[in-house]
Amino acid sequence: MKALLLNAPSCLEYTDFPTPVPASGEVLVRIRACGICGSDIHGWDGSTGRRLPPLIMGHEASGEIAALGEDVTGWNVGDRVTFDSTIFCGECDSCRAGQVNLCGNRRVVGVAPPEYRQHGAFAEYVVLPTRILYALPPSLSFVQAAMVEPVSIAIHAVGRVKLGADDSVAVVGSGMIGLFVIQALKWAGVKRIIAIDLAENRLALARELGATDTIHSGSTDAVQETLRLTNGIGADAAFEVVGIGATLNLALNLLRRGGSAVLVGNLAPKADFPLQAVVTRELNLHGTCASAGEYPLCLDLIERGIIRVEPMISAVAPLSEGAQWFETLSAKDGSNFMKVILEP
Ligand SMILES: [Zn+2]
Ligand SMILES: [Zn+2]
Repeated sequence: MKALLLNAPSCLEYTDFPTPVPASGEVLVRIRACGICGSDIHGWDGSTGRRLPPLIMGHEASGEIAALGEDVTGWNVGDRVTFDSTIFCGECDSCRAGQVNLCGNRRVVGVAPPEYRQHGAFAEYVVLPTRILYALPPSLSFVQAAMVEPVSIAIHAVGRVKLGADDSVAVVGSGMIGLFVIQALKWAGVKRIIAIDLAENRLALARELGATDTIHSGSTDAVQETLRLTNGIGADAAFEVVGIGATLNLALNLLRRGGSAVLVGNLAPKADFPLQAVVTRELNLHGTCASAGEYPLCLDLIERGIIRVEPMISAVAPLSEGAQWFETLSAKDGSNFMKVILEP
């Protein structure tokens, strides 16, 4: 098969690679669309240490079942599918409790930290265990379905806190995940959604997708402006969708006393933290990671147009052009692009 192989840091080659063979309980999936994730870019250049070469990356994908391993029931060749990027074990305490994203034995598709190597979907074929597969609704395209993984991250994040319709909720960062969080908050019934970003074009998209107020944090004091919008009280909840010290501090400082922050972004491994503000204002902090069973809901929300994925798709290109796209996305102006989807 053809695959986009990471040979060395920042070195991708479109090359021949042995087609994998499904083991018992696995299927072979012919990949039709696979999105480039920000974590792939940060792994590609070696900076995170989670994409150790040689590796086929790619974990946001969709395709059709091409072959069945032994003991596979309930699936047929030709079924259109997507998959959870987390290969959970299904047997540990976390898995039994439904928290498959916290599985202690988990592997992530298209990821290779020092402990394991799991080839991903920047290839014509990938093998996957059936327990992570989801059938696509007939009207969903492969490209739309390749967006379900980032959508699931937003839906899971919004589920981490109890939100009331009258709550004021701030979203710090209006990149792709932030824009999905905004749509998820709107779906959850939140009436006041305050989007904060440094880019005017992203704030315009945030308004189009459900933000009721937007704050350009480059030209406005976002904490003061949030206070003004909330009668001097502060936001009830904040979603931090960047993951650096400055935005973490902003998300915590714009909360009301007793407010809740959901931490989605994690660009920086460590960040300066306003300890006294969190303690004395009794703030609640919630980490959120991947998703835990939200895929069917997300596929339904995309199919019904409640979560719109098209505005986030910057380009759809052949897999053979993948190396060039990684160069483009990692360049200085790469942040002008949201999602690029490769078709093997
Ligand atoms: Zn991803
Ligand atoms: Zn498990």
